[in-house]
Amino acid sequence: MSSATSVRAVNRWASRIIPAILASCIGFATYVVSKRICVNYYLRYRDRPGTAIPLLVLLFASLLLVICTYTRLILVIVYDPGLVPREQTAAPVKESGRSNVRQRQDDIEAQRYDGGRDNDPNSPGLERFYSKDVFVCENDGLPRWCSSCRIWKPDRVHHSSEIDRCVRKMDHYCPWVGGIISENSFKFFVQFVTYTTAFCIVCLVASVLCFRDRTRNQLPIDGFVIAVIALASFFGLFTFGMTTLSIRYIFLNLTNVEDLRQKSTVHQLAIRVPLDTEPGPQYYLLSYPLPEPALGLKNQPSSSGETAANARDSLASRTFAVVKTQLGENPWNLGPYRNWVSVMGTNILDWVLPIRHSPCVAAETNTSFYEMGPLYDELRTRYSLPSLSVEVREAVTEMGAVR
Ligand SMILES: [Zn+2]
Repeated sequence: MSSATSVRAVNRWASRIIPAILASCIGFATYVVSKRICVNYYLRYRDRPGTAIPLLVLLFASLLLVICTYTRLILVIVYDPGLVPREQTAAPVKESGRSNVRQRQDDIEAQRYDGGRDNDPNSPGLERFYSKDVFVCENDGLPRWCSSCRIWKPDRVHHSSEIDRCVRKMDHYCPWVGGIISENSFKFFVQFVTYTTAFCIVCLVASVLCFRDRTRNQLPIDGFVIAVIALASFFGLFTFGMTTLSIRYIFLNLTNVEDLRQKSTVHQLAIRVPLDTEPGPQYYLLSYPLPEPALGLKNQPSSSGETAANARDSLASRTFAVVKTQLGENPWNLGPYRNWVSVMGTNILDWVLPIRHSPCVAAETNTSFYEMGPLYDELRTRYSLPSLSVEVREAVTEMGAVR
């Protein structure tokens, strides 16, 4: 069993066991804090409603938010997890989403078949890329290709080996919820870990107060209270760590996957330039639609004898300059506040309630898959790329001249 396979097996089992453990711990802590600490001890024994009632309100308010965000998270993960549709001819995903990864590892022919990208210039899905002004590409200016799903990968899509599917803005596989945290679920995940941290803090404060009060009054130590202190400390530290990490990702506009690669990643972008742009020393050019029959670069001499189809294509032709960012640069970084809004929503109700999806879920425009940060304009300047508006102005002038 390869290490990747064993990690998947562990995650699979964890995703079945952990939710049950989580529910048991929350149920136990709720019982101890509400019944034994607040009602039995503070209300009945000590007659201190001023301590008991605020604790009960905070306990059940945070519990309600934990349940709501967890339910929302599970619903999104089950019904709308943010997967990119596979090409019809891609090998089918088997057995509860865990595919034929192992089979392919043993099957060299399958690897060879899967590894090759679609060399058809009219490959389905390509138009979606070159109809934009910028997209992430490979060295040759073509979009990234997923050999398992047999699709062109849109920006920020990552192939999850857990479920053998391409996932939009994939963050991580979460055994706590038994699924992939992605663009669609990240906001609800952040809310869930935040409210779970709050719930743990309420449980910890209530049990520590009770423990201290009992000790001062020389009452015997309650084992249930000690158990809640231990559980709330453990889960509280864990969820607090997850909360701060996730909030950091939001402010930097990164996913967990992107953050792990951030220091060693140079993004390669195809940026649209006017059709008559000359090749430059620091970039090369590629025009879409791709020429028939073979893929080729504009820099290479074109074959003579342009067909009628090619002439038609040239009317709808778009040229892209392929440029690289520097190490650590993030093209989607919009600045802390706009990064926050793109995930958490535009108003405070969106931030705290697990109802509406993140605005970034519907961020795809004719310009780009996700809103680009200031780095986009900076790259155009850095590589001295001609402005598109010049081309648009020329086109308008030409149209006027024709009339
Ligand atoms: Zn894929």
